[in-house]
Amino acid sequence: MGAKILVSACLTGHAVRYDGQAKPLVHPALDRWCREGRLVTICPEMSAGMPVPRLPAEIEPGRSAAEVLSGDARVLESNGGDVTAEFRQAAENALALAIEAGCAYALLIDGSPSCGSGFVYDGSFSGDRQPGVGVTAALLRQKGIKVFSGSEIEKLAALIEGE
Ligand code: SF4
Repeated sequence: MGAKILVSACLTGHAVRYDGQAKPLVHPALDRWCREGRLVTICPEMSAGMPVPRLPAEIEPGRSAAEVLSGDARVLESNGGDVTAEFRQAAENALALAIEAGCAYALLIDGSPSCGSGFVYDGSFSGDRQPGVGVTAALLRQKGIKVFSGSEIEKLAALIEGE
């Protein structure tokens, strides 16, 4: 059995996003890892009890996921609702599952305030992106798990298949 990979549920076709949609990634490596039983699937936000659909949420303007984890910033819904506790719980749940299942790697959907690993939205709910990571991705990286976005699947494949 090769390396295990934690994956965003919406990336593997589960309709769990805030808008009730999935965002499936189609790639032969993903199919192969699925057949090999390497994929450990989670939607961190749903694991913390958030409903589908749900309001969009963003890390508040000018702040980072690391600051959310340290208690110095909030995650807010588009109507101003504070979902910081849920997002921190989501990250803890993903980390606990990754540790339990022995995942050294994660393949997560970019842009999400939980799963983003290259960019996130800037907190203004205007669709503007900025470089940054989501709360789950930040915690996984803090704990040494190598996090890749869907567009980096080739990089991840080269890494784990060389092991
Ligand atoms: Fe997908 Fe992650 Fe958002 Fe869940 S929290 S819908 S897995 S991007």
